[in-house]
Amino acid sequence: MIPLCIPNISGNEGAYLAECVESTFVSTVGPFVNTFEEMIAAASGASRAVATSAGTTALHAILHHIGVGPGDHVIIPALTFIATANAVSHCHGTPIIADVDEERWGLDPIVVEDILRNESTRDAQGVLRLDETGGAIKAIMPVFAMGLPADMDALRVLADEFDLFLVADAAAAIGARYKTRPLAQMGADYTAVSFNGNKLITAGGGGAILCPTPEAASEIKHLTSTARVGGAYDHDIVGFNYRMTNLQAAVGVAQLERLEDFLQAKKRISNRYEEAFSGIRSLLPFPSTDESEGSLWLSGIYAPMASLAQMDALRAQLVQTGIEGRTFWKPIHQQTPYLACPVALTGRTDKIWQRVQPLPCSTQLTSQEQEQVIDVVKSCFA
Ligand SMILES: *Cc1c(COP(=O)(O)O)cnc(C)c1O
Repeated sequence: MIPLCIPNISGNEGAYLAECVESTFVSTVGPFVNTFEEMIAAASGASRAVATSAGTTALHAILHHIGVGPGDHVIIPALTFIATANAVSHCHGTPIIADVDEERWGLDPIVVEDILRNESTRDAQGVLRLDETGGAIKAIMPVFAMGLPADMDALRVLADEFDLFLVADAAAAIGARYKTRPLAQMGADYTAVSFNGNKLITAGGGGAILCPTPEAASEIKHLTSTARVGGAYDHDIVGFNYRMTNLQAAVGVAQLERLEDFLQAKKRISNRYEEAFSGIRSLLPFPSTDESEGSLWLSGIYAPMASLAQMDALRAQLVQTGIEGRTFWKPIHQQTPYLACPVALTGRTDKIWQRVQPLPCSTQLTSQEQEQVIDVVKSCFA
């Protein structure tokens, strides 16, 4: 079978894991964790990075740190992986589910502005509250779907005007650029990254928080590592055990050594699909903009005019010829735990999500395999 997207672990992963075992540093303390944090900070232009057990726990820790609590709202896009919404719920808050823009499939600043300006009111204490629920709005949380940065400058302007935090869920976007700026300098106060197996860089599992200042990073490190003070069992706040292990970091370090190679491989695969389908008018590539370079962690096609039956037929054909063909993220407002959330939908996410077909794009995908995939897609859409 040609898999959709599997890790490429043919570098120093094995050697570094053996080093962990020999040194006995396999748990939450060890030299690879520090090296990994330094490499992530350098790759993303962050003041400091804090490694975590997952992208989801990175998001939860950020929202907890900025003070999202019971009844509070965070504005998130409808088109994202469930973890974005879950992080808000883990803080006992409720997401406001807003729609995405056409150009980037990222949180639409026009929709966000409408929520802030027309659907919310400042109370006597100056707290901005959503009219529908009375909940305080604390943050705007764009997602870099397909690894492509959202319209960050426009969202930053809104965050500043309404005095909100801007938190980026850049789970799969390590290596991306926005107006030439690296990940941690795109305008967000805090940015979360994931190192799950299907992302560009994996650590087996894991995440990182890109922090704006060393002080913020120290506080977040404290929060995510049980909030211990000193050498005895003293803890000054309710902390989390969200640390990355040295084993995970060993894999992550070996992966980061090859970040540029992986980015290039993803670009080559994406370019080949784009070129192969450029003559088929009903097929579009995933969004791209002049302002940004996405991480291209996922390649595939978007067939805006296709019927759902056509999309099903394509998927069946892929699977039948030994190619992994999965559907894309089901939108948050259609997920059971989030059916009752406040929404601001334009219909864009509903139109997009079932007409997206991710295609195999592992960095080690051979050109022969890719041509096989291209032939199947062409046979369904010619
Ligand atoms: C993968 C992903 C996450 C979650 O990361 P984990 O490491 O799997 O917890 C969150 N948001 C988005 C957009 C993702 O793609």
